[in-house]
Amino acid sequence: MEEAEIHAILSRLLLAGKLPGSMKLGEHKLAELFGVSRERVRKVLHRLGHERLLKIVKNRGAFTIEPDQREAHLIYEARRILESGIAAHLADNLTDAQVERLRDHVDREADALRKGDRATWIRLSAEFHFVLAEMTENPIIQRQAKELVGRTMMLVTFYETSAGSTCGCEEHRAIFRALAGRERGKAVKAMSSHLSLVETRLKPLVCVEEGPSLESVLTQEIATYRAWRGELEPATI
Ligand SMILES: [Zn+2]
Repeated sequence: MEEAEIHAILSRLLLAGKLPGSMKLGEHKLAELFGVSRERVRKVLHRLGHERLLKIVKNRGAFTIEPDQREAHLIYEARRILESGIAAHLADNLTDAQVERLRDHVDREADALRKGDRATWIRLSAEFHFVLAEMTENPIIQRQAKELVGRTMMLVTFYETSAGSTCGCEEHRAIFRALAGRERGKAVKAMSSHLSLVETRLKPLVCVEEGPSLESVLTQEIATYRAWRGELEPATI
């Protein structure tokens, strides 16, 4: 298997948070699973280390990243600063049409939750934050918000989230009400306390030992990749 292919498989695995934190990715084991030399595996691991998708410890090898609580806190803090500013800006500038669009959005969130449609509800609750950023009509703000919200979503894959731990529906409604009433101070406060609550609801995974083994996860991932490639091959020949 080529370096690029091994890199693609491992980075997808790491980004999806399928492996527990601080798990050793042994060169020997990986070389065996991929059916390639240790040198080739080592090159890929170093590249992934540069990309900060795993951690290289001198003389000890490569390890999956342990979710860093301090970094998680910094990301949520950055979101509070940015999104409180977005809320303040919108309270002063929202058009009636935008208010209606937001009302429709929080109604759909509540509806999905009431129907027990968890997948839709999670998607809509993340979108709520993107919609607010979009309403500033400022591409720089939108880009920053997208990156930060994306990073918190990646964090969630490392943490065990308790029921209803992403975005509280009532909290979004409180933000909406303040914005619809053009109450700047209230909107800032509602956004800031919402993001603090989301952060406190994140619970780090405790039992990493109970996670799946490297071998089982990787074997599955390689099989998926081969099946996908097998389907593509006839068309490319
Ligand atoms: Zn939210």
